[in-house]
Amino acid sequence: MDIKIIKTAKPKNKPDWNNLGFGNIFTDHMFLMNYSGDKGWHDARIVPFENLEFSPAMIALHYGQMVFEGTKAYKTENGDIQLFRPQNHLSRMNNSNRRLCIPEINEAFCLKAICELVKMEQDWIPKKPGTSLYLRPFVFGTEETLMVHPSSTYTFAIICSPCGAYYPEGINPVKIHIETEAVRAVKGGTGDAKTGGNYAASFQAQKGAERKGYSQVLWLDGRERKYIEEVGAMNVFFVIDSEIITPKLEGSILPGVTRLSVIEILKDKGYNVAERRISVDELIESAKKGSLKEAFGTGTAAVISPIGELSYNDENFEVNARQIGKISQELYDELTSIQYGNTKDNRGWVVQV
Ligand SMILES: *Cc1c(COP(=O)(O)O)cnc(C)c1O
Repeated sequence: MDIKIIKTAKPKNKPDWNNLGFGNIFTDHMFLMNYSGDKGWHDARIVPFENLEFSPAMIALHYGQMVFEGTKAYKTENGDIQLFRPQNHLSRMNNSNRRLCIPEINEAFCLKAICELVKMEQDWIPKKPGTSLYLRPFVFGTEETLMVHPSSTYTFAIICSPCGAYYPEGINPVKIHIETEAVRAVKGGTGDAKTGGNYAASFQAQKGAERKGYSQVLWLDGRERKYIEEVGAMNVFFVIDSEIITPKLEGSILPGVTRLSVIEILKDKGYNVAERRISVDELIESAKKGSLKEAFGTGTAAVISPIGELSYNDENFEVNARQIGKISQELYDELTSIQYGNTKDNRGWVVQV
């Protein structure tokens, strides 16, 4: 399939590179393609970023049939443009698509589409340390009907947003609230798919945590509220004595690309890393005993987000004196130096645009 290109007649002014924030500024162009039963995926095109028109009765709006991804393009010191493990994001998108009964995308073609779009938008990639061009591929059912069934037509899009450094003033450990009432996902549900409804379902608890002064929620399993799952839009790791533990993927946790990369780096460095169930009781016990050395979240947005405080049933526990730990820092440095091309990538993770 060829990609048709229509360039904008009105390029926007570039943003203030010193005040980018996250997800509020969009570039000049976007990628679109459509799906129908008779044509499959067709009409691939890069067009000006603008509003789209759909029926008020389209399925995605009423029944939430949508899937998204989040990945980044990085500018290296010598001006090259790199993607980090984009194939993992696209194959995860197809896992999510299968779960939501959305037709699969051609992963190789979509990687080509990402590269074409990023090349066109290269002047929008910020250059300061820690900044990047955030890429948001997403797909949604567009059929006009209130019937409860999978859509017969779809739109796939990629939009781009220049984003600032997650830690403009250095890495700042966050305060996390362990949620004991609401749950994010259950085994058999959609927790391991990147779909909008999971987020809509998390807002109430997230708002509650923010009201109490916490930045994010740590979710427990949906059946027993006993085992740790993940944090907001991040997977979670704990360093307890000499073991580094992350919850095992059992169907309700989103399989993060950063999570996988962290596990691989830790194994390469000879750390004792375990994917296993970890109960909130074990975590709290280790915090009380002082054997909880570090805790951190992992995700594309922040890379590594150290946890400085945990609250559970109205008790608060400090982690590592609210400082970033040695392992968290080591992982952050290693991952970001691969992403920004300061370290040679000898694992085949980086794709040059
Ligand atoms: C996207 C996401 C993550 C992190 O995944 P990465 O591939 O590392 O960015 C973790 N948890 C949830 C719920 C997510 O949506």
